[in-house]
Parts: sequence; C-alpha cells; structure tokens
Amino acid sequence: MTLTPRPPAFVPEKFTGNFTQQEPIPEDGIAAALEVLRSGRLHRYNLLPGEEGQTATLEREFAAAMGVPYCLAVASGGYALACALRALGVQHGDPVLTNAFTLAPVPGAIASIGAVPVFVEVTESLTLDIDDMAAQARATGAKVLMLSHMRGHLCDMDRLLAVCADLGVQIIEDCAHTMGARWNGRLSGTDGVIGCYSTQTYKHMNSGEGGLIVSRDPAIMARATMLSGSYMLYGRHTAGPGPEAYDQIRYDTPNVSGRMDHLRAAILRPQLARLLTQCDRWNDRYRTVEAGITGTPGLTVVARPEQEYFVGSSIQFLLLDWAADRVTEVVRRCAARGVELKWFGAAEPVAFTSKHDSWRYAPPRAMPRTDRILAGLLDMRLPLTFSIADCEVIAAIIRAEVAAVYQAG
Ligand SMILES: *Cc1c(COP(=O)(O)O)cnc(C)c1O
Repeated sequence: MTLTPRPPAFVPEKFTGNFTQQEPIPEDGIAAALEVLRSGRLHRYNLLPGEEGQTATLEREFAAAMGVPYCLAVASGGYALACALRALGVQHGDPVLTNAFTLAPVPGAIASIGAVPVFVEVTESLTLDIDDMAAQARATGAKVLMLSHMRGHLCDMDRLLAVCADLGVQIIEDCAHTMGARWNGRLSGTDGVIGCYSTQTYKHMNSGEGGLIVSRDPAIMARATMLSGSYMLYGRHTAGPGPEAYDQIRYDTPNVSGRMDHLRAAILRPQLARLLTQCDRWNDRYRTVEAGITGTPGLTVVARPEQEYFVGSSIQFLLLDWAADRVTEVVRRCAARGVELKWFGAAEPVAFTSKHDSWRYAPPRAMPRTDRILAGLLDMRLPLTFSIADCEVIAAIIRAEVAAVYQAG
C-alpha cells in the first residue's frame, strides 16, 4: 500500500484533544451492568439454577470469536500472564524468555512466580528478534517464551512457530495490544499454547481491569481454571474442559484467586460484539497518522508486513540515531502543541516507559540493538475519541516539529 501524505487544510497552533479519553461504555453494556448491580449477584459463581451468568457467557462468546474451545476470564492481563506460566508448570528459578521491549506487567508476571526473565533483543520492526530468542533459549535452556506483541507489532509468527517447535519452546502470547489482530489470517493469541488478553481501560475492550485466557489444550485450561479460584465449581465454566480434565489436578492445583466478576463481563460482552468494527476504526486513524508522517526527514515509519492485520490503537515511529537532546526537543515541541509523545529512550523511566534496564529484579543483559531502537522510539496513543481530522492535525504537527528540529541539527 502506498501512502501519500495529505496535509490538512488548516493546522491549528495547538491540538486540544485528550490522549487518554476513551469512548463511553456502550448503552447496552451499561444496561446489562445495571441489571447485574440490581441482582446483587456479582460473584461469577453466584448463579440461579440453570443460569450461565455474564462471566461464563463472555468466556463462551470470546472462545467462539477466537475460534478456540476454551476461554477463562480473570482479574487482569497481568494475572492472565502469571496464571498461564503456572498452568504450564513453570517453576521457581526457571528461565522464561521475553521481549526486552514490553510493558512492566510482562516481566512482572514472570518474577511473580519466582521465575527469571531472560530478555530478548527487538528489531527495528519493534518485534522479537527470533535469532536472538533461539540463541538465548540454547544458552539458558529456557522452555517457555512469553511473547509480547508490544504495541501491536507481530513478529513473523510462521517462522517463530517453526523455530520454537525445533527448540521445544512453548509460547505464551501476550496479546494486550493485539486483540483482534491476525498473522496470515490466524487470530493473535491462537498460535501459542496459551493466549492472554487484557481488558484494562487502555486496551481494545474496556472493563477498567480484566483479563482473558484462551487455549486449545484441556489440561492447561483445567489447571488455569483451578488456579484462578474455581473451588470445585469448575463445572460452571461453559467454555471450559469437561470434568475428566480435573480428576487429578483438583487435588494438587493451588487456588490463586483472580476471577472476573459479572459486572465486568456484562460491560465487555457488548464491546466484544463491536470489536471488529472498532479495530477498523483504529486502523483508519493509524493509517491517517502514518500517511501524514511518512517522508518526514529523519523520521522512520515502522514497516508493517503484508501478513499482518494489526490494530492501530497506538502508533510508533523512530528517530533512529538522533542525539538524546534532539529527541527531547521534539517531544517538548510536540507537547507544547498538544501532541503527547512517549519516549522510551529517556535515562529514567516515566509513567509507562520502563524497559529492560528498569527491571532490576531480573538479571541484567547488555542489549545494544534494543537500546538503539528504544533511544529513538516515540509512541503515541490513538484513542477512538479522535476524529480522522484530529489525526491529520496530529500528524501535521509531528511532521513540522520533527522537520524543524532535524533541520536545526
Ligand atoms: C497492559 C499490558 C499488559 C497487562 O495488562 P494489565 O491488565 O494492565 O495487567 C500486558 N502486556 C502489555 C504489553 C500491556 O500493555
């Protein structure tokens, strides 16, 4: 697809939109939530005879949407990741491979069960470096990869699956930014043994906090369900494996409570019904900003492979090999014009921009390639409350300010 920058007719001095303003919960979600509140029965197992309940219904609908047999709803995306590791039998002290560029809850989930994050370099496409992953797997003996599709960028999933199969490495997919995305037509989260999603406010469906786990493996899903705090009520999971999957594990799987409740499930179901439409709306915004910044001197747009159907809920670009003070100057000038860019290269982590060397509970590793990328990486949210015209203005502001700093240098 060739992109022709289309400058907006008028670019105001300052953009006044709010980068953290979400759309409201759909009215049918609000109505369903009120019904749950009026019932007083918020706990997922607090059901009337014969009632499925919002939480199990959400699981059934999400499993169907992802084309997998099993789904489990939990308390957060981070909980889903830790639960997935436990369900795979990862033990204290085991090495777990993960992207050096990801969000804090990912290495945090690994550390939460006493396992050891092993960071893997990322490429200029912001994806896992598959060769470095293989080298680290051989060096550490790691048997699990927690693959983070950070900011919605998918690595070559076909190649990764082949390499991991060779190495005997199991993949947990962190799909916090790829709910609804696809690689070669396959939905993100369905290639690994487990897929984990977040329904936290800044992700693709919003329940404040929440997480979803999918798998095709009944034994893994039975363990995840027990872990999430099912007591002996696992029979109430319509999108779970049958009772035979629990025969043995019900005695030796600890309860690490992290269930989802009916209230969150009630507001998620109408959002799931709209997910594909929302993904297309995000992509219209993404493609608008991308077209507007393409060709800016000194700025590298992140290439998106043909095989990838992504969800552009945020956009990244690179000021590769720029001096730090000039990147800071771009961030400052854009902020002064109302455009909020997050920089992953700052010496000290701010808000969400922590990175491998901020997670000092994990063994340090020199990551020169990742550091080079992060030093030039700027990141911006694209909430659906922005119009296409807003996105044109944002792109024009970025283009002008990057060009100004580039030419002054
Ligand atoms: C948000 C996020 C998570 C975890 O989500 P929470 O629901 O906030 O725990 C995991 N991975 C990535 C990349 C995220 O952005």
